[in-house]
Amino acid sequence: MMKIEVAKNIGFCFGVERAVKIVEDLISTEKNVYITGDLIHNEEEMSRLEKMGLKTFNVKEKWPDFTNSTVVIRAHGIPLQILGSLEKSAKRVVNATCPVVSGVAQLLQRERKNGFELFLYGREGHAEVEYLKSAVDRLKVLNWQNPKIFFSSKKVALFSQTTMDVDGFKRMAKSFLNSKNSFSTFHIHNTVCSVTMEREEEVKRISKANDLCLIVGGKKSSNTKKLYEIAKELNKNAHMILNASEIQKIWLNSVKSVGICSGTSTPLKTIEDIVKRLRNFKN
Ligand code: SF4
Repeated sequence: MMKIEVAKNIGFCFGVERAVKIVEDLISTEKNVYITGDLIHNEEEMSRLEKMGLKTFNVKEKWPDFTNSTVVIRAHGIPLQILGSLEKSAKRVVNATCPVVSGVAQLLQRERKNGFELFLYGREGHAEVEYLKSAVDRLKVLNWQNPKIFFSSKKVALFSQTTMDVDGFKRMAKSFLNSKNSFSTFHIHNTVCSVTMEREEEVKRISKANDLCLIVGGKKSSNTKKLYEIAKELNKNAHMILNASEIQKIWLNSVKSVGICSGTSTPLKTIEDIVKRLRNFKN
């Protein structure tokens, strides 16, 4: 009989749950509710909210007329200049940015005031990185594809995008310490979100303990991709899927146990459907 192990930390994280609740409450009482791009990176959840009346717009394209509309800011924030413009043009702006992400912006601003040169372990173009870059000027973004460590100050501070991998962040901090440049003070701010760190640990354990490992989440979800990369390093039979319909029968050949983990923007219902489908395969 095939064993199915579901991770303890599964479904929405508290930041996503909070953002979804804000949107659900608004669309149940108001007609014109807009969101600045995807509220969260999960296609199924976005389509559910859109069916309930949520309207999405791209902040980089021409905006609709917001005179009678409420605009919601997505969970990982938007650049502050855009926020300012929205506040001028919309009837109301509701900020659903996760408090953990706003906390990183505040910490960056504090370190800037203290005269630190600022670095962020993250991915250019990600919503959160765009937001953090707007909160402080001259924030340098680096990662293992672009690991250029060059600083000119004596005081240097390193931060992380909340959804990056903690092992990569630690390695980056070590590279700073080993770099040829010298500094008098180096502040390491591990701002990887604790929720995503716990999920990384669980993915490591579950992918080693099971024949097949399924990582469930949206194709654009940065933290789901990260979990999948960790899983596939440890288990060659690891797959990233959006929902139950993407499970392929061939993956289950001679499989005695399946482990299921998810990104932080995956609804619990998707996990329940996957468990049901796996049980049916078994019958
Ligand atoms: S992963 Fe962490 S930082 Fe991102 S929304 Fe969830 S709780 Fe907030």
